[in-house]
Amino acid sequence: MFKLNSLIRPNILKLEAYSSARDEFKGEAEVFLDANENPFGDLNRYPDPNQSKIKKKLSKIKKVNTNEVFIGNGSDEVIDLVFRIFCEPGIDKALTFSPTYGMYDVSASINNVELIKVPLDESFEIDINALNAYINDENLKLIFICSPNNPTGNYFDKTSVEYILNTFKGIVVIDEAYIDFSLEESYTSKINNYPNLIVCQTFSKAWGLAGVRVGAAYSNSEIINWFKKVKPPYNVSTLNQQAVLDRLENKAQFEIEKNIILNEKEKLIKRFEELDLVRRIYPSQANFILIEVADANEIYQTLVTQKIITRNRNKVIRNCLRITVGSKEENDQLIEAMETISKTTTAKA
Ligand SMILES: *Cc1c(COP(=O)(O)O)cnc(C)c1O
Repeated sequence: MFKLNSLIRPNILKLEAYSSARDEFKGEAEVFLDANENPFGDLNRYPDPNQSKIKKKLSKIKKVNTNEVFIGNGSDEVIDLVFRIFCEPGIDKALTFSPTYGMYDVSASINNVELIKVPLDESFEIDINALNAYINDENLKLIFICSPNNPTGNYFDKTSVEYILNTFKGIVVIDEAYIDFSLEESYTSKINNYPNLIVCQTFSKAWGLAGVRVGAAYSNSEIINWFKKVKPPYNVSTLNQQAVLDRLENKAQFEIEKNIILNEKEKLIKRFEELDLVRRIYPSQANFILIEVADANEIYQTLVTQKIITRNRNKVIRNCLRITVGSKEENDQLIEAMETISKTTTAKA
């Protein structure tokens, strides 16, 4: 039997949540003298602490209930809250499959939680044998699965993910920051099949709102209630909530832009294939491409001198660059620069 309360940190179990003025009042009102706000201005009122309008819209799009959605100040807030809700600092542990998104490590360190890094296998898939050495550790509370994975770009094999969801006694966070670019299915449809599943998504990538800082978590309402209890009461500003609502109004535009990016990605892959410089192109279900080159540090630096910034992942995957799919113009500029480097290197050889 899965008992959620046995996974919640004792101090959080006892927590008396902050009750804001707007939490205690429900209904229609005209005179607000309850929150020490200034009566003048357009942004003088505190934002909706429950982000109800966003949740209503998202629940329709994602086919979940509104009480199965949490809205965070970016998914980075979701990641931090997961540590704070489930991990006792200095005692509990979390686990990731490396290489992966850097914030799990940073958030674990900030919360004084040991992070176990289980290396992915040669095809960047989850190595279940390697994982099994840790999966029954009593202090292991969290497993993060980033799928599609950043920086490798692949969507993890479903059998492995389901094995973890079925076997692990703690919480499984599936980070789907790139799921909109993928042809594969989201795990949001599974939140009621697994009592330990949290899916997190973001408005920062396919939705084009990285500057807005809004992310979402989807889980059963019991887990979502713990998020609501621990979050700062007004974690998403009025302006940011409005920006998300405006974007959700126009899902057609979202689809158009996403398809342009996916088309550009296919074009970039074809052009990388023609470059001698590029030794390997990893398959990607995201809006970036991981490529292997002869000397990533050198190519990265040469591109910098031409004011083109890529992500040098040499330290995590030898001689690999992670390249975001940009606009047609940006991608053309990158390819042109790489063609020039290609020619000069060939000339040298
Ligand atoms: C970009 C990214 C995010 C986004 O985080 P936000 O705080 O929502 O901007 C989350 N997870 C992964 C794996 C990412 O690559």
